[in-house]
Amino acid sequence: LDADKFRRQGRQVVDFIADYYACIDDYPVRPDVAPGFLTGKLPETAPYTVEPDALTAALRDVRELILPGITHWQSPRHFAHFSATASNVGALGEALAAGLNINPFTWEASPAATELEVVVTDWLGKALHLPEKLLFAGGGGGTLLGTSCEAMLCTIVAARDRKLAEIGEERMGDLVVYCSDQTHFSFEKAARIAGICRGNYREIPTCRESGFALTAKALQAAVSADEAAGRVPLFLCATVGTTPTSAVDPLRELCAAVEGRDVWVHVDAAYAGAACVCPEFRHNIAGAEAVDSFSTNPHKWLLANMDCCALWVRQPTALVAALGTDGDVILKDAVVRSSQTGVVDYKDWQVALSRRFRALKLWLVLRCHGIDGLRAVVRSHVCMATAFECMVRADARFEVPVPRQFALVCFRLRATAALPGEDKLPCGAVDDVTANNELNRRLLEAVNATGRVYMSSAVVGGMYVLRCAVGNSLTEERHVREAWNVVQKQAAVVLAIKNK
Ligand code: PLP
Repeated sequence: LDADKFRRQGRQVVDFIADYYACIDDYPVRPDVAPGFLTGKLPETAPYTVEPDALTAALRDVRELILPGITHWQSPRHFAHFSATASNVGALGEALAAGLNINPFTWEASPAATELEVVVTDWLGKALHLPEKLLFAGGGGGTLLGTSCEAMLCTIVAARDRKLAEIGEERMGDLVVYCSDQTHFSFEKAARIAGICRGNYREIPTCRESGFALTAKALQAAVSADEAAGRVPLFLCATVGTTPTSAVDPLRELCAAVEGRDVWVHVDAAYAGAACVCPEFRHNIAGAEAVDSFSTNPHKWLLANMDCCALWVRQPTALVAALGTDGDVILKDAVVRSSQTGVVDYKDWQVALSRRFRALKLWLVLRCHGIDGLRAVVRSHVCMATAFECMVRADARFEVPVPRQFALVCFRLRATAALPGEDKLPCGAVDDVTANNELNRRLLEAVNATGRVYMSSAVVGGMYVLRCAVGNSLTEERHVREAWNVVQKQAAVVLAIKNK
């Protein structure tokens, strides 16, 4: 790396990014492009020889060819999925880590990186009001992975091996895992990779009355039925902030339902875990003292740019027993020294050997924003989502069929929505679920086609709902108001077509 060249090129890239953010609002949030639009514009092979100032030319390609085809996740009018909340220091932390380009798989491979990860996961755990048992300070410990799916996979294999060591490997086919029908699909993927039989994956139904949260009664019934059939309950994935509606599974009741059965309880709080930085949201993880592991994605709502998933476990030895290796010939000495000194070798807490220096970015975010700064971000998003919810509720054509949770509002046109201009709802209209779902699907399509706003959808309890997730750093109240205006305008259009 040539320092002078790096300085010059670094400035070019920083300027490029700053220019992008300065006019991000001018782009349609979701690009209007057809499949293959980019492939046809790029050469079939990489260049053999390049121009003297290849970076300048490449940045021009990014501006002219690539930017028109990206979905602008950082647009203040991106309300789809869950956010990927960005920050200056989140981006610069990524740059710092990429610049140092280290690979801290063992303590010895980079002592400061390992120790920073130990410190920063305890910092974040304390900031989120996690039980002490999950922190290094309380005998547990945390690590930084890329995604929640990895956190699920690592914890299932830890639970699996702990259980099989007790009951014998020949019982693998009897192991059962539990979740709700609202659990993120990545849990099914993780269970499959961990070797859980497809027939032993229990997706327990939820309902509107319980706010689409998993109930202890339903879990208890499923577990008892499996035990009666000679199967072995292994793992429960409870979610705090489900993907479709951000429902919260009641941790205390669920842990009580499996108490005494040695079921590993994992909490997937990929999105909503961040809210626990605010004491007023801590009740959502009441009962977490009894769980075995907890994960959340600081890249979703805590200003840590992609990617960063924090996982805490109560018993790190279970993780290491499943994922640890003695090290090949090259690493053996370092691994032996680690075990003698009791330091963490993070390669044994994850699937791969190599790893990124994510701790630097997360530390930088916590160091530069402070816990109060993170609280302010969460509160402002919740406040804007509350304002959006109020606007929806004030329009009789719409309903909010599930309570707003955190900064996610799920809403839809009622089946009985009035004709534009009418303020009374037609009496006795039949709620034709399929037709209404189709109407709302068309509404979302129309809203997104404007390019001014991007929202997403979910189907819960047979209902198609639009999802407005507030969570971008650049989003202000005026963007939320504008988003609602777009929805209202497009609703008038789709209703007019429907009522023709
Ligand atoms: N769990 C929940 C509740 C999610 O909302 C998501 C993604 O949005 C995931 C898990 C998957 O996260 P990842 O992409 O980090 O695996």
